[in-house]
Amino acid sequence: MAEGKVYLVGAGPGDPGLLTLRGRECLLQADEVVYDGLVNPLLLRLTKAHATRTSRVDGPTGRRLDQEEINTLLIALAREGKCVVRLKGGDPYIFGRGAEEAEALLKAGIEFEVVPGVTAATAVTAYAGISLTHREDASAVAYVTGHEDPTKPHSALDYETLARFPGTLVFYMGLHRLPEITAALISAGLSPSTPAAVISRGATSRQRTVTASLESLPEKVTAARLRPPSLIVIGSCVMRHERLAWFEAKPLLGQRIGITRPDAQSEPQIARAIELGAEPVLMPTIRIEPMQDWTTVDKTLDRLTDYDWLVFTSVNGVRSVLDRLWQTGRDARSLATIKLAGIGPSTAEALNEYQLRADVVPDEYRAEALAEVLRDQVAGKRVLWARASRGRNILPRELRSAGAVVDELIVYRNEDVESLPPSVVDALRAGDMNWIGLSSPSIARQLAQLIPADARSHLGKSTKLVAISPVTQAAAEEAGLPVSTTATSFTWDGIFEAILAAEEPGSSTFHKH
Ligand code: SAH
Repeated sequence: MAEGKVYLVGAGPGDPGLLTLRGRECLLQADEVVYDGLVNPLLLRLTKAHATRTSRVDGPTGRRLDQEEINTLLIALAREGKCVVRLKGGDPYIFGRGAEEAEALLKAGIEFEVVPGVTAATAVTAYAGISLTHREDASAVAYVTGHEDPTKPHSALDYETLARFPGTLVFYMGLHRLPEITAALISAGLSPSTPAAVISRGATSRQRTVTASLESLPEKVTAARLRPPSLIVIGSCVMRHERLAWFEAKPLLGQRIGITRPDAQSEPQIARAIELGAEPVLMPTIRIEPMQDWTTVDKTLDRLTDYDWLVFTSVNGVRSVLDRLWQTGRDARSLATIKLAGIGPSTAEALNEYQLRADVVPDEYRAEALAEVLRDQVAGKRVLWARASRGRNILPRELRSAGAVVDELIVYRNEDVESLPPSVVDALRAGDMNWIGLSSPSIARQLAQLIPADARSHLGKSTKLVAISPVTQAAAEEAGLPVSTTATSFTWDGIFEAILAAEEPGSSTFHKH
């Protein structure tokens, strides 16, 4: 068997958008991904590869692989002929031991390639409004490990030299030694009043920056209870933090938002949450599955010309029908004589992806509104509704009352998820979720089933529910879930708007760090 290849890829820190294009290409073609604890797990959505985590982040669960084991694993996978991505937080060669992995691969005769990443010092400071080499502040920058104990007699770091360094100092891995590091620099001659900062969990929704004089930094950081991973930055460039801290000004910074949609479809919501500074938490309550038996669908697709209208009430409906036409040797010409209706903007956009335009889209995204706009056009006509295996039945009823002959065709299955991911269950129990978006009645009902009993006391308080529409709100309330706010435009964007309105400064729930 041909030997595989290992790509040592930098993932960037925090924000999944900081991966390079080359890194993305590698993930797309990977068979195996071996990733470390600094990597944002959302990046794994880019790959179909089997993924192994080498370290634990929060809490004691799971075993951690040591460097020797990681090297052995990479070599073994490559020898199986696999395309392996070793995904490492930040840049693989900056305090990342990537070069040790490269050495091991070289020794084993395995081909490798290195894909640099955005290192924490670059990205995290930029997200904190700090330019490490602002020309008025510094003409050099040093990346320093804070892992070593400066009080040990044979430290590899010469603090006298560091104290004289003509520029900005950035310490990686130094949070747990902050008092020793600052004391060593001061006793080596660096002024105690030198501006300094610690940036914690940079480029994530939990980013926090504490600035202080070098001397008072440890005390302020302890008081603020900053957590790793954190960078220590020392130098006058730190003073610009407040003016330029664009990321920390994001409206939903620090908010964890539960996304209950089917996993495969939550990409736009993940992107929107991150854009607003929030942390998206994937907690699908239903999943979308293809039909097991396509017989009825295929028969119906054979005689589409019998119908005057084809009505879609979901993106899935559009994709199921159009993909099935394609897979069975047909194409969009099968729809040449039929008019198309979509329930809302996303459904219309899904049609556009297939170069089709909806003839009708209501202003308001709900079945009643769709029935209303179709009412005058469907009398005496034949309407085919491409629907999910379950959902509301309002539409056919209304259309029939308008004189249409309506056939319902199930084109995909909508099924309940049996359980929420363990990390989500823990977060719900701890009240460590700020908002949960409910985007359909079936999602709301299923969440009511899945939510742990001892998490219910947080609902409506630390964990608030936002409904996409009054119909979903009613279903949630009927299932015993208290809804704190309801969207006024019935889309996921509307859900985010409702959260933003509720979280506006001055509102009692606003908690910016
Ligand atoms: N290869 C990585 C660094 C790994 S060492 C890179 O190039 O960024 C781990 C250290 O990186 C942490 O102790 C911390 O100092 C820093 N770090 C990584 N991610 C960070 C983040 N999101 N915020 C702040 N510091 C981070």
